[in-house]
Amino acid sequence: MLDAPTLFAIATSITGVLGVFLLLVWLQERSIRALAWWGAAYLMGGSAVALWSVHDNVSLVPPAMPNALLFVACGMLWNGARLFHSRVALPGALFTGAIAWLVAMQFPAFAQSTEARIVLSSLIIATYTFLTAFELRRERRRTLANPGLTIGVPLLHGAVFLSPIALMLLLPPEASADGWFALFALETLLYVVGTAFIVVIMAKERVALAHKTAAMTDMLTGLFNRRAFLEAANELIARQARKQGPVSVLAFDLDHFKSINDRFGHAGGDDALRLFAATINAAMRSTDVIGRIGGEEFAAIFPGSQAEACTVAERVRAAFEIAGVEISPCQVGATVSIGIATATAPIAFDALLARADAALYRAKANGRNRVEGSVESGSAEPPVRAPAMRKTVLAVR
Ligand code: GH3
Ligand code: MG
Ligand code: MG
Repeated sequence: MLDAPTLFAIATSITGVLGVFLLLVWLQERSIRALAWWGAAYLMGGSAVALWSVHDNVSLVPPAMPNALLFVACGMLWNGARLFHSRVALPGALFTGAIAWLVAMQFPAFAQSTEARIVLSSLIIATYTFLTAFELRRERRRTLANPGLTIGVPLLHGAVFLSPIALMLLLPPEASADGWFALFALETLLYVVGTAFIVVIMAKERVALAHKTAAMTDMLTGLFNRRAFLEAANELIARQARKQGPVSVLAFDLDHFKSINDRFGHAGGDDALRLFAATINAAMRSTDVIGRIGGEEFAAIFPGSQAEACTVAERVRAAFEIAGVEISPCQVGATVSIGIATATAPIAFDALLARADAALYRAKANGRNRVEGSVESGSAEPPVRAPAMRKTVLAVR
């Protein structure tokens, strides 16, 4: 009992309202230009269907126009998805469907054949819809939004838009397709509403992620800030606790940093901090957790034994000793002292960091530019001194 004209009228109005809604969301989140494309696509698509629905009674535009506008709207939806993933818009491909349609409509044999028009329209819309589904698939890899929704809905719609071709082939010529047509209109309505939901959720998640990343990142070095580091460290300890595995904490403090600031200015000091962040990033695994926990104090935690920690710490120390000789254009001679503490999870992170700090102070007291270890409390082993500690303190201080 579904009535196709009514459904199309509802679909048109809802599409228009959603178009305005998407534009309003864009005004709030200007950084996401895709929202503007999607909003405009909805308004254009809604107008196209409105023109098309009234076409039998009032001809406001040439007969080929409504469909051409609809295809441009589909192309804009797809290009919006491309922009959302930082890919360039493809204006040529955006208009290809509309141009193919306008050219085909110049041929009377095509323009007068309902079947031919249905086949080409279905193919064009399904193509853009599949392209959109393909583009949204990228979102899945970033684990934002619900993958079932972001891919499933456009895919389903693409398939449904191909269905008129199948119906035309399967139904006997004299059968009425009105019921199918109404179902088709209903599905379009669901698609339009569903897609608007998905794109708004994706945009909001994107914005939330950007805020979260900014709140977790140290601006100067790009490493985790203190709060994010503590959070990640506790997560790592909890993971290791399940298998009672070892965790090692490395505490870093740049040597004579006040003097670097005094000699090369605050900007020179900042360069040294950035250089240290880059050095430690390169010297440690990407799965290790590294953070800047104070002015020139850094820390790292990773699931590994004391021996591994010594190796890693010595690698960082040696790499920074070399990198810090010249922080262009100045002969700086920056170095770092490192303290290590290892324990078997579960353990309170604060306690472990305190032990690494105590080891770090020993490294300072013993001459700086060196690695010192501590052992698990209760253990009989003596504090470990890192291997291959070359005392090549540069004569710059
Ligand atoms: P030590 O070898 O004993 O560690 O000597 P130090 O000079 O490094 O001593 P300390 O750790 O007390 O010095 C920390 C200095 O770091 C003090 C402060 O001026 C500087 N500092 C803290 N945050 C920043 C920053 O963001 N940028 C710069 N350029 N300097 C900073
Ligand atoms: Mg310090
Ligand atoms: Mg220092």
